[in-house]
Amino acid sequence: MSLKTFSSRVLFKVVLSRGLVAWSKPLGPRDAAAAAVGCSSVRGYHNLKKPTYRGPGRAAHIRVVDLRSDAMSQPGPAMRQAMAKAKLTLFFKMEAALFVPSGSMGNLIAVMVHCRERGDEMIVGDLCHMHIYEQGGSAQIAGVHSTTVTTLPDGSFDLEELESKLVHNYLDPYYPRTRLICLENTHNIRGGRVLPLTFLQEVRALADRYGLSVHMDGARVMNAAVAQRVAPSTILQHTHTVSLCLSKGLGAPVGTVLAGPRDFISKAVRCRKALGGGMRQVGILAAAGKVALLEMVERLEEDHRNAKTFAQALLDCDPPLFAVDMAAVETNIVRFHLQPSFSPSEFCDRMGQVGEGEEAALGQGIQVLMFPYFGNSVRAVWHLGISPEDTQLAIRKMQFVASQFMEEKVRAQ
Ligand SMILES: *Cc1c(COP(=O)(O)O)cnc(C)c1O
Repeated sequence: MSLKTFSSRVLFKVVLSRGLVAWSKPLGPRDAAAAAVGCSSVRGYHNLKKPTYRGPGRAAHIRVVDLRSDAMSQPGPAMRQAMAKAKLTLFFKMEAALFVPSGSMGNLIAVMVHCRERGDEMIVGDLCHMHIYEQGGSAQIAGVHSTTVTTLPDGSFDLEELESKLVHNYLDPYYPRTRLICLENTHNIRGGRVLPLTFLQEVRALADRYGLSVHMDGARVMNAAVAQRVAPSTILQHTHTVSLCLSKGLGAPVGTVLAGPRDFISKAVRCRKALGGGMRQVGILAAAGKVALLEMVERLEEDHRNAKTFAQALLDCDPPLFAVDMAAVETNIVRFHLQPSFSPSEFCDRMGQVGEGEEAALGQGIQVLMFPYFGNSVRAVWHLGISPEDTQLAIRKMQFVASQFMEEKVRAQ
């Protein structure tokens, strides 16, 4: 095993036993075909449908602003350099941690370790990533039953509803045995909402009362910490375990950190191996993750600012075609609605194409890539690759698309 974990009371340190590895070629761009244009259902979001627009960046005079996902981020020079050096110590207030290939695997391993017997059950929000976007892995692979609670607009649950779903009378053979409560922070489908600290505290108190574990799908928990202006440990003190994506807004090419108590992590190492996640030259990957955690967290603030700027521009747009709840734009995700006559897929198509007369009107072609999203909305996500200037380009394009749409509508009348 090339990645060893050990613990200290306040810190975790991940030490890599493998050193210098040459990085022979730069990482290629992510598959642009991951664009799912024209689908607005929750499940349709990850359809690998070929984009209808031209591939990004074909012509020098066309700028591409890719707001489809923060998984589109590319490693920068510091990260590439660190990947070739690899000697790593990370700081995090949990006893131990493990590098795993993906967030889905991190979450699945957490389920496997927390729910240790057949017939065990976990409670999840009905709109969480673990329940919707992970292929039902907890049932399929771990043999764990899920019970859902309603996800509120801010990503939290009603605590009474949560308590009503817990099965504690497990000696009765009718019922599964509740073992685990899963939280998602920030909440993806709810548009990057940050779970309130009081909610975390209350969930943990409930879990303690019933002897349950709390796992946080913290794919974007660093965004939450930055938005709340607290140390990550202020959030994580209320959970037993967390998985944190290094490859979203933090910009590493791959990887998730799964962290928790030492005995949890030693079981997690076994599960990771069984799932095929026991990697060999993992040091070079974890080194990029180190840069992600040590140097990229502060800049998340910039993503949050850019997202707010874009959301405000949607509201200010003339003609007024867009609806967005500014109070809900807390981090790097903007979810917004359009006037009913303008469908999310049509809007995303137009944003992604260089339309007629655009180069003359804007001085250049601008392709802005976004997804139609849950609940007839559109989602745009800010990350390492998107500058304030890109954000301004996206705004100009949005205004251009909106006025063209209105002109065409008027002409058609
Ligand atoms: C991205 C993400 C994950 C993990 O996804 P992988 O593609 O498996 O790395 C988990 N939870 C949330 C909320 C996410 O956004």
